[in-house]
Amino acid sequence: MKLMKKIALLLIFFMLMTAFVACNGTTDEEGTEEENGAVDTENGDQEDSAAEDRETDVVIIGAGGAGLAAALEAREAGHEVVVVEKMSFVGGNTLRATGGMNAAGTSAQEALDIEDSWETHYEDTMTGGQDKNNPELVEILTQNAADAVEWLIGMGADLSDVGRLGGSSVDRTHRPTGGAAVGPHLVQVLSTNAEDEGIEILTSTEAVEILEEDGRIVGIVVQNGDGEYTISAKAVVVATGGFGSNTTMLVDYDESLEGFGTTNHPGAEGDGITMAQSIGAALIDMEEIQTHPTVNPEENYMITEAVRGNGAILVNLEGERFVNELGTRDVVSEATLDQTEGYSYLVFDHDLRESLSAIEGYVDRGLVTEGETLEELAEALGMDTGVLENTVTNYNDFVDAGADEDFGREDLETSISEGPFYGIAVGPAVHHTMGGLQINERTQVLNEEGDVIEGLYAVGETVGGIHGANRLGGNALADLIVFGRIAGQSIGEDL
Ligand SMILES: Cc1cc2nc3c(=O)[nH]c(=O)nc-3n(C[C@H](O)[C@H](O)[C@H](O)COP(=O)(O)OP(=O)(O)OC[C@H]3O[C@@H](n4cnc5c(N)ncnc54)[C@H](O)[C@@H]3O)c2cc1C
Repeated sequence: MKLMKKIALLLIFFMLMTAFVACNGTTDEEGTEEENGAVDTENGDQEDSAAEDRETDVVIIGAGGAGLAAALEAREAGHEVVVVEKMSFVGGNTLRATGGMNAAGTSAQEALDIEDSWETHYEDTMTGGQDKNNPELVEILTQNAADAVEWLIGMGADLSDVGRLGGSSVDRTHRPTGGAAVGPHLVQVLSTNAEDEGIEILTSTEAVEILEEDGRIVGIVVQNGDGEYTISAKAVVVATGGFGSNTTMLVDYDESLEGFGTTNHPGAEGDGITMAQSIGAALIDMEEIQTHPTVNPEENYMITEAVRGNGAILVNLEGERFVNELGTRDVVSEATLDQTEGYSYLVFDHDLRESLSAIEGYVDRGLVTEGETLEELAEALGMDTGVLENTVTNYNDFVDAGADEDFGREDLETSISEGPFYGIAVGPAVHHTMGGLQINERTQVLNEEGDVIEGLYAVGETVGGIHGANRLGGNALADLIVFGRIAGQSIGEDL
């Protein structure tokens, strides 16, 4: 029996990795989820063939990280939980997360002698968000992130590798050993535990309406291959993610994004925001849309910030550095757009390649240009060899001196000196939508008057206000686990 379970877990992990590898690109170029070879979960489309109305205690819209965390806590509180997922596979954008999850004061940091505190995490988050963030929600996020990491570890997650992403003043970004992609691993842990706890996940089932009666939420209407039906519930959690794949919505809120690519999965269309708005939910910060500065422009494929975190520099087409590579995403994106042709190159050495296994995926996809020497790399990238060599020598001097006199980069631990050397072309693409539904500290959705909409909760990227004008890398995963858990716990108290 134990052997069977192990085999089943391995199979789920293999299928999630296949979905991650297949779908971690643009929406435009990746086609449908079926074409991507994504996975059906056990309770998928074949089993729920009859479109009959049904009832449960809690219904969760969206089987990404936030929805699954909320589902687990609501189940822990003793409630029957049904999760509906419009794609044929679970995971959403969470499946694509690569860099890691931020938290201060974890056992992994302690094991690596990293001193950190929730207060520093709070300050970094507020500064990164240009102080537009809701301070109460950021306090909850940063105070509870370490506990969220330990909760995941308790369920079988490996988050022992700790690095740094842009805008953080301390190494606090947690990911699996060797710097492997964090998202597929977390989705595997969450979905396996959800299955073990008897949580029903209905894939290929799209929520199309949230039902309200006498000022209280009473369920949702869903559609699947068999038609439309109602799932009545005492509580509804909106966990549908952001709207980074909805071109119309993106341009409506920020017309400068016309023509931009996106790092998001095709299901990130803002459904939950639109559905909740139509029953009176208040929205906040909708115009705050983040571009990620290191997305390969040809494949529209995101290169994790951990490459810079582990020591890579950014150089323009002339071979010169132009920004503090570990600045916040808004700053680095803007600086890149000011360079010739609006893109740049990540440049790093072999030691860095060996420090981050995610890089092997970029090599396999043909995104990485290689040179035995810096001269060879410069030639391959069409740069002046002398300029690139000079740039790298200067940077290595800054590393030795512990101070970046040109751009004030703080994390200067590794020089670029061990060949072969590598370059990846990168530029900005839409990445995260910071705006969304307005919630209180218990994750209850608020209406335009600031009152609670009874029975309606929202978590994850569908929520606005937490990240202010700019989300820090690694803070989304912290957000969805912390607030996902709070939603499940609040429902436990409220029902
Ligand atoms: C390429 C990439 C890399 C990233 N890397 C990191 C990282 O390293 N660290 C970090 O902190 N953050 C990272 N992020 C951001 C982070 O992954 C997301 O913000 C987060 O995963 C969102 O989680 P969520 O649960 O709110 O939404 P999602 O994970 O997107 O899940 C929402 C789910 O709801 C489903 N859904 C939508 N509408 C409906 C509907 N009407 N009915 C039913 N289901 C519906 C969707 O299909 C989806 O499965 C990354 C994002 C991307 C795109």
